[in-house]
Amino acid sequence: MIEITLIPLLKDNYAYLLVDEDGSVAILDPSEAAPVKHLLEDKELKPDTIINTHHHWDHTGGNQALKKAYGCRIAAPAADSCRIEDLDIPLKEGDLLKIGTSTAQILETPGHTSDHICLYFPQEKALFCGDTLFAMGCGRLFEGTAGQMWKSLNKIMALPDDTLIYCGHEYTQANGEFCLTIEPDNTALKERMISVYQTRAENKATIPSILGLEKQTNVFLRAGSVQRFAEIRHLKDQSR
Ligand code: ZN
Ligand code: FE
Repeated sequence: MIEITLIPLLKDNYAYLLVDEDGSVAILDPSEAAPVKHLLEDKELKPDTIINTHHHWDHTGGNQALKKAYGCRIAAPAADSCRIEDLDIPLKEGDLLKIGTSTAQILETPGHTSDHICLYFPQEKALFCGDTLFAMGCGRLFEGTAGQMWKSLNKIMALPDDTLIYCGHEYTQANGEFCLTIEPDNTALKERMISVYQTRAENKATIPSILGLEKQTNVFLRAGSVQRFAEIRHLKDQSR
């Protein structure tokens, strides 16, 4: 089993510290190195592995400084070997990544970027989904198509409803407000937003989310068809 610690970085990014019971340590999506190093020093931990869900700088910016400091290996989408420097462990759909005694299954989820992976730990019931799925949102389509993203989201929806969703950003409140414009009468959504406002007012993280709750409240997962998904994505892009 791994212990998961959320690390808030930059304005609204989340990196994650994964510590296996055998002492193996991984850092997922470090946008910057200094606060991560601080945390590692506090906990007297040395990471063996850096994992990137995709190539964007706000998920990889800390790679080189951490690699230099700890000599860790970088695991990232195989096709990104030209965009992520020093990629040591190329990951593809169906691959297994071991963190000590724990194993993550790799899901390819293109859409936000042409190459994007999610890590699913079945034992921990935990999904690290980067910028594919957010609490009540999904990533913008920077490189992929609506069809690719819809397929990727459906791959995530096939996981058990009690899967914990650890995403790459704290976008929950703004996402939920957008969801309310699409489904103003969704009771589960309205109830969820009450607790989201409360959590954010206390400056706490709304992450992890739970897949079952996403299915009830996330209008992107609720689109029902790729056409409707594309429409909702377009509306969200214009709402910014
Ligand atoms: Zn991104
Ligand atoms: Fe991001």
